[in-house]
Amino acid sequence: MYGDTRVITADQLITMDPARPRAEAVAVSGGRITAVGSIAECLTVTDAPITDLSGSTLMPGFVEPHSHPLLSGITTEAPAYNISPWLVPDWPGIVALARQAAVDVPPGNSILLFGLDQLLHGCPFPTATEMDDLFGDRIAVIIALSQHKAAVTTAALESLGWLDNAPPDPVGGTFGRRPDGSLDGTADEVPAVLAFAAPALQSLGGHSLAQASSYLAGMSRAGITAASELAYDTTMASAYEALWSLPHVPMRMSVYHSTADPLCSQRLTTPIAPELLCKGGLKFWADGSAWLGTIATSFPYLDSEAVRRAGISDLHPGPKAFNYDRDELDAMLAQHGGEGWQIACHANGDLTIDLVLDAYEAALQSHGLLGTDHRWRLEHVGATRTDQLQRMSRLGVIPTFGVFQMMQWGDLLDGELFESRFGARWSPTGDAAATDLDASHQSYHNDGNISPSNPLASVQAAVTRRSNARTESGEYRLAAGHLHGPEQQVSLHLALKAITINAAYILRREHEIGSIEVGKFADLVELSADPYLVNPARIAEEVEIRGTWLAGRPTEPDAFIAEAAALPVS
Ligand SMILES: [Zn+2]
Repeated sequence: MYGDTRVITADQLITMDPARPRAEAVAVSGGRITAVGSIAECLTVTDAPITDLSGSTLMPGFVEPHSHPLLSGITTEAPAYNISPWLVPDWPGIVALARQAAVDVPPGNSILLFGLDQLLHGCPFPTATEMDDLFGDRIAVIIALSQHKAAVTTAALESLGWLDNAPPDPVGGTFGRRPDGSLDGTADEVPAVLAFAAPALQSLGGHSLAQASSYLAGMSRAGITAASELAYDTTMASAYEALWSLPHVPMRMSVYHSTADPLCSQRLTTPIAPELLCKGGLKFWADGSAWLGTIATSFPYLDSEAVRRAGISDLHPGPKAFNYDRDELDAMLAQHGGEGWQIACHANGDLTIDLVLDAYEAALQSHGLLGTDHRWRLEHVGATRTDQLQRMSRLGVIPTFGVFQMMQWGDLLDGELFESRFGARWSPTGDAAATDLDASHQSYHNDGNISPSNPLASVQAAVTRRSNARTESGEYRLAAGHLHGPEQQVSLHLALKAITINAAYILRREHEIGSIEVGKFADLVELSADPYLVNPARIAEEVEIRGTWLAGRPTEPDAFIAEAAALPVS
């Protein structure tokens, strides 16, 4: 897979290496960087030909520290329909698309729409009655953008055998019911969503590897050369191995194994080189989604129209939103904390973060890991407090910020869902920058299909603290809307570190990727402009991604899609 030996030059190289922030050229051999500096310096290590990218700026390839590429591909790439608000902004648009899908999708195949958000689309979640009105007698499912809710047609319930024979709720999830106890076609939380979506997923008529490759190609076109899977389980092993066996796979992959899988302690056994496909650690979910009222915060939701629209009836769920109590967390960390894996935990509410930090601290202590370089992770941390960021720093726990939460829901978080003093500082990147976490620990992610894969938009949002804007025609403009928590703005340099070297750090890969330095892999992104020289409020629009390089070779996303499409359907 390694590219030829060569010297690559561009208008400038931004290395993210503080020892030499800027360079003229990079020499590459065997997939790794052998020299960085002037063209003359690079030519002292090789007389290989020069590849001249004049007119472009080179940076280290972007690193996505928290994603879900496989499921994102299956749920958003054809034959699935992506109705996320930035593509289909309102309910009438969804209705039109759903009716068309019922005509276009061949009879016998099911229909899957992904990306409904009650808050952003401004509509209630449908039940089987509305679903039948849209899709008739077809097996169809609509999955929420948060992935924590779904609705299906009566035909889908019938295919499950649950029409006259409603099952009990699964552990960790609930099925919506009518007064007579029959299922109303809605499912809440991931185990229930997966149970309802199963018939639709089975008869979608798609090619899951081709769908995943198409999604990964989109990530590659956004400049990403290393990514992650934060909901891995052993059922995904063959898919990841098949995709990462392809000659044109465009990025590296670190998988984090869900602790719900009894096989989560196992090492990844695969013939794929670990620098391409490796297991980063273990993952669990300590709470849910702010848009569904399933996070544990010390402050209540407001009694507002937006909260009612989201279907949130309990304004202050508090610890009721925990997915684990302390004893359960302790037992899980006693079992897995000493296995050598990096541990990652989804936690959005400040009460959840208190609970997890308490359990982390006790487990780190008992496993003899306090003071070591364990880098246990906290994911998203939307409502984290400053004292918690300081505590993370003391414990060596690393948060990664879902800045997209502020971008997509900032206008609602700030004064509609929560009092402004809580909502405006959502994803408090500025507070994190004021702690020791500034040094090498602040990273940003897009969380798979929950937001468009676009690291530069996260940079723009962290620098400006602006939410997404919508034009009069309903089109989205990323991070170009209202200002939320200007005291949380960070420097452009820190934001660029957050999608390169710091994102590599939380994946424990900063020794091999994340900056342009001798000895690291030659993973690069080619930009149309120097991001330090454009208006920070327009980075995502004005800095175009011209391509990426993996191990010294230009990636070819289209070739990768073609290779995946030629794989047998699994
Ligand atoms: Zn996630």
